[in-house]
Amino acid sequence: MNGRNGVNLKADQILLVDDLTIDYDSDPAFARNRFETELHGALQRDEFLLHYQPKASCKSGRIIGVEALIRWQHPGRGLVAPGEFIPLLEQSELIVPVGEWVLRTACKQTRAWHEAGLGQIGVAVNLSGRQLEMENLFTVVKAALDDSGLEPGYLELELTESYLVQNPEKAIATLSRLKAIGVSVSVDDFGTGYSSLAYLKRFPLDVLKVDRSFIQDIVADSNDAAITRAVIAMAHSLKLDVVAEGVETEAQLGLLIANNCDAIQGYYFSRPVGADTLAQMLREDRRLVSKLLDDGSNMRTLLLVDDEEDIIRLLELVLSGNGYRVLSATSAEQGLTLLGEYRVDVVISDQNMPGMRGVEFLRRVKEIHPDSVRMMLSGFTDLQAVTDAINEGAIYKFLSKPWKDELLCSNIEEAFRRKEMAFENRRLSEELHAANTELVRVNDELRRHLHEKSQQVMRDEAALCAAQEVLQLLPWPYVGIDSDGMVAVASADAEALFANEAPLLGTMAAECLPDELMAWIESEGADVLALEIAGSRYRVSRRAMGANSQSSGTLLTLEAEGPRA
Ligand code: C2E
Ligand code: MG
Ligand code: MG
Repeated sequence: MNGRNGVNLKADQILLVDDLTIDYDSDPAFARNRFETELHGALQRDEFLLHYQPKASCKSGRIIGVEALIRWQHPGRGLVAPGEFIPLLEQSELIVPVGEWVLRTACKQTRAWHEAGLGQIGVAVNLSGRQLEMENLFTVVKAALDDSGLEPGYLELELTESYLVQNPEKAIATLSRLKAIGVSVSVDDFGTGYSSLAYLKRFPLDVLKVDRSFIQDIVADSNDAAITRAVIAMAHSLKLDVVAEGVETEAQLGLLIANNCDAIQGYYFSRPVGADTLAQMLREDRRLVSKLLDDGSNMRTLLLVDDEEDIIRLLELVLSGNGYRVLSATSAEQGLTLLGEYRVDVVISDQNMPGMRGVEFLRRVKEIHPDSVRMMLSGFTDLQAVTDAINEGAIYKFLSKPWKDELLCSNIEEAFRRKEMAFENRRLSEELHAANTELVRVNDELRRHLHEKSQQVMRDEAALCAAQEVLQLLPWPYVGIDSDGMVAVASADAEALFANEAPLLGTMAAECLPDELMAWIESEGADVLALEIAGSRYRVSRRAMGANSQSSGTLLTLEAEGPRA
C-alpha cells in the first residue's frame, strides 16, 4: 500500500487522519514523538484553523448558529482532526493558549459575519476541562469578546458533562459570572456521561446537546426514541434548548422534529466547512428543507395505509376536498417512510396486509410518533389482536369496512381535533411547568435576598450599638440638639453635669440647659463659649450637623478647663 509520499507501508503503520493516509515511518513510537514535537510549534507556525458546522432550527430550518471546530493544517499530513491532537494538547497544558486562540478567532470571525450583514448568528466554542479550571477564564473570554467587538449574547461555550462534574462548585461560579454578562453555556455530548438532567440542573446552562451516539439509533431502536423524547421534554421543562448532534438522515430529522427538538447539527444539513463556505451558505440563506418543519402553516395531514390500491383510490376520492392533505401507502413499510418525511396528524391503516400487519404497524407508529391519532379501518377482525392494541393505546378507534362516507369523515374530523387539543394541552402544560420552575427560582432568589437583608440589618444594629457605646465612653460631656430644639443625643457625663429631674434625652433643650448656654446657641456669635457649671469652668464648642449624614441640628461638646470642682 502506498502513502501519499509514495513510501511503502504496512497496514499497522498507517494512521487515518480525515481521509488522508499517513506514513508513520517504520517506528510508530518515534513517529508519535515527532508528531507531538511538531504539535508544540503548531500555534507559533499558524498551522491551526477553524471549521464551522452550522446548526439549523427545527422550526424555521434556518441557520441559527455555528460550532467552531479546530483543525491542524499539518505541512506533510494535511488536515488533522481534533480527536488526534486535543488529548495531547490537554496533557501538555498547550490547550490553554490554543483554546484562547480558538476563542479569539471564533469571536472575530462571527463578528465579521455580522458586520458583513450575513445574519446575527451565534458561535459555539468547545472548552476543555483545563480551560474551565483556569483562574482567569472569565478574563480571557471577556477579552476575546471585547477585542473582537462580538456581543456576549452570540457566544456559547460547550462543555462536556465530565468536565462539569469534576469540580462542580468552581464550574458553577465561573459559568455564573460568564452567564451574567450574556454568554450562554451548553452541555456537549449529553448522554455519554453518567450524570442525569436532575444533577445538571445545578449548573447555569442554556443548551443541551444530545450526543450523536443517541441520535444514530433513534429510528431503529424504539428505546432510544423514547429516551430522546423524554430528554427533550425534561430539558424543555428546565428551560434548556435542545440541539441534536450528528443528524445524518431525514428519518432522524423527522423524529426529532416530531418530538420538539429545537435545532439539529449534522452531516444531513452540512459538514463542518471553512469560513468562506459558511459565509456563502449564509448569503444564500441555506435552509433545512423538510416537509416536517413546523413552518407555521400547520396543514392537517392524514396517512392512509392499505395494500389494496382500489380501496386507497376510493378513500382518496371520499376524503378529498375536506381541507387536509391525504398521503397514501400500500404497505406498512411505505407508510413508515412517509412518516419520516411528513408531519402526519392522523393515520388510518388496514389490518390484513402482507408483511407487517396493521396492528404492528400502528404500534410502531405509536412508538415513534406518539402524538399521532391512529385508527384502524378493516373488514377483517382479529378480535384479540385489535382489542389488545386498543387497550394499550396503539389504536384510538376501530372502523369497519365497508364504511359509511359520512361517518368516516366525521371520525377523521374528530381525530384531527383530538390531535390538536392534545398538542395544545401539552403546550399549556409545558408553559405551566416552565412558569412554575421560574416561580420557584424567583422565590429562592427572594428568600436569599431577604436572608442577606436581615443579615445586613443585624450587622448594622451591632455596629450601631458599638458606636453608641463608644460615644458613651468618650471622656467629655456632649449634647446633640436637633433642628426642632430637642435633645437627641446626650452622653452619660452630660446627663450628670446638667443633672435635672428628667433625663436630657427627649427634653427640649430650652427646658434643661442653662439660659446662658441657650442664649449662646441661639446667637450667631462665636463658636466657642466659656461657661461655668456647678463651680467648674468649661469650654463649650458647637458644630452644625449634616455635612456627612442626613441629620440636622447642633452638637455641643464641653471641655473642662482646669480641674473639675
Ligand atoms: P464535538 O464538540 O461533539 O463536535 C462534534 C463532532 O462531531 C465534530 O467532530 C463534527 O465534525 C462531528 N460531526 C458533526 N456532525 C456529524 C455527523 O452527522 N456524523 C458524524 N459522524 N460526525 C459528525 P470533530 O470536528 O472531529 O471534533 C471532535 C471533537 O473534538 C469535538 O466534538 C470536540 O469535543 C473536540 N474539539 C473540536 N474543536 C475543539 C476546540 O476548539 N477545543 C476543544 N477543547 N475541543 C475541540
Ligand atoms: Mg461540541
Ligand atoms: Mg458533541
